[in-house]
Amino acid sequence: MDLKAKLEYAVSMTCSSCVDAVKKVVGCHPEITNYAIDLEKQQVVVDSCLSANEVKNLLESTGLKAALVGIGSTLDKGHLGAAVVELRGSLIKGVIRMVQLTKDLCLIDGTVEGLPPGQHALNVHTYGDLTNGCESCGDHFNPNGSRHGRQDEQIRHVGDLGNIEADPNGKARFRFTDNYLKVHAVIGRSLVIHENPDDFASEDGNSGKGIACAIIARSSGLFQNPKRFCACDGISIWEERNVPDAGSGRSQKGST
Ligand code: ZN
Repeated sequence: MDLKAKLEYAVSMTCSSCVDAVKKVVGCHPEITNYAIDLEKQQVVVDSCLSANEVKNLLESTGLKAALVGIGSTLDKGHLGAAVVELRGSLIKGVIRMVQLTKDLCLIDGTVEGLPPGQHALNVHTYGDLTNGCESCGDHFNPNGSRHGRQDEQIRHVGDLGNIEADPNGKARFRFTDNYLKVHAVIGRSLVIHENPDDFASEDGNSGKGIACAIIARSSGLFQNPKRFCACDGISIWEERNVPDAGSGRSQKGST
């Protein structure tokens, strides 16, 4: 099974020695199977089964800044959809990405920290409503009126993604594909991590209350996001969201 995704980064390359530095880190990495570097566009595109954050760290090991601007499939040229879930609890934090690799294959990749060690059920829930935290997210997403089941079963709630496992330090790292979940069908809904493992027997998995949840948000596909680094002061395209477009606030990034 192909767990690769195509990842597009804006990288603050300004000269050919920057390109050489990037080439050095991506060119010989065993988990990067293909890459393209464009100095003029400040663009690096890689095919990899590393997480988006691992590739960002690799690119930034050159001393340059890198920001993910698009994510897509290595198997299908069209953009079939991508989404991101950002968990920003006081204890539990993480990022989960979903990429529709083909019409019937969705890649789910996540890193979550701050979890109680052990197994936890992972489910897409029907509503993207966090008014009462995970309580208001509704039931497991179940558009076909099926029974609850394991992730590898044909008959299950579409939202049944099985269990993830947190190590003794509370970190869970997972990457798997799913044949039933479609990115376009879950954008605007919620992803919930439960306190207990799914037992795959009872009606809803008997996994207890949600301990972390967030809305599944659309993310950019490949080559859809033209923003690049501002050459003037090195503020990254993501940091720019937090600073004014101009004026005195611009020099105070990160101070709020
Ligand atoms: Zn279920």
